[in-house]
Amino acid sequence: MNTRTDLPAIPFIDLVAQRRRLGKAVDDAVMKVVDSAQFMLGPDVRTFEAQLAEFCGAKHVVTCASGTDALVLALRAREIGPGDAVICPSFTFCATAEVAALVGATPIFVDVDEKTFNIDPNGIAGAIEVAKANGLKPRAVVPVDLFGLAGDHAAVAAAAKAEGLFILDDAAQGFGATFNNRRLGTFGNATATSFFPAKPLGCYGDGGAVMTDDGDLADIMRSLRMHGHGSDRYDNIRIGLASRLDTIQAAVLIEKLKIFPDEIDARNRVARRYNEALADVTIVPTVPAGQVSVWAQYTIRLKAGTRDAFAAALKADGIPTAVYYPIPLHLQQAYKHYPVGKGGVAVSARLASEVISLPMHPYLDEPTQDRIIDGVRRALAK
Ligand SMILES: *Cc1c(COP(=O)(O)O)cnc(C)c1O
Repeated sequence: MNTRTDLPAIPFIDLVAQRRRLGKAVDDAVMKVVDSAQFMLGPDVRTFEAQLAEFCGAKHVVTCASGTDALVLALRAREIGPGDAVICPSFTFCATAEVAALVGATPIFVDVDEKTFNIDPNGIAGAIEVAKANGLKPRAVVPVDLFGLAGDHAAVAAAAKAEGLFILDDAAQGFGATFNNRRLGTFGNATATSFFPAKPLGCYGDGGAVMTDDGDLADIMRSLRMHGHGSDRYDNIRIGLASRLDTIQAAVLIEKLKIFPDEIDARNRVARRYNEALADVTIVPTVPAGQVSVWAQYTIRLKAGTRDAFAAALKADGIPTAVYYPIPLHLQQAYKHYPVGKGGVAVSARLASEVISLPMHPYLDEPTQDRIIDGVRRALAK
């Protein structure tokens, strides 16, 4: 068996390659902000908000300091809090449920679909039932576009309708993806995204945004991100946050948005090659008709109990892997006392023991990808 440790280590995500491509354009944009000294809510923030609205088709974009804050702003704007239930999947990043708890509401976990890894809309009715049985008012559902693939927003909307749930799409990983041939940003009542550097559209630090077609909601979120100001900046009318997107980050994002569609295409080329080369040896991800994923992660499923050895074999070949997510939220210490919907969360628990993600980014060249594919096939043959 040939070991490959003589070859250079492969990055899991290659932000340096993107940095090389952006080059001077992003340096100039940042220096312009530095020279202007308009560090907070400068003109680039408004420009970026307008460009992002145009990109995804939403009427309003409110930028803020992180994806987590984006979710909080939307929930707070709807005055969701103590006594309210917020329904979300268990198989996701913690922030999806964390924000419900942060505003004083109760997250209720539902299961995910084993093919798409996204919320199973059939579980929502059972979560509403459990909320009511616990004396809680079902107020919101937070579907997640996990790993870059849009959730089933048509089915979520249908399931949310009877109870009039506020639908807050957590598109931190999926922004740029399409559902029914339309980009995320206009499904449900509001869409939150993150510009954390490792997300498909990342900045050079923390950042986030909420998209909505609801002008009143957008106005309240604009107030909330600046301590809850009224028409007079020093006469506050609600309790808010200090949560703005830095002007420097907006300047970076303006440059990054220009190449984002091209990067989405590149990610899809990488994913297609992985799928073609690995479908016969493992469970590869599927994209439902009418959808385009942005491939925040390329995640395969292994037989339970084989993952550690698989990851170790790849590591020995200089190939990094990552597990998103090893523990579903309903089993984590901070979340395990919260209720689970009537249908249970068996798929979430199983996926957590089976999934593993391979290197994925728009600058993954074919020779490097072939090395990864080769390593995966050899590790699976062991
Ligand atoms: C990253 C992420 C968030 C939070 O975004 P931050 O910008 O890191 O606060 C929320 N939800 C999901 C699904 C995420 O992946």
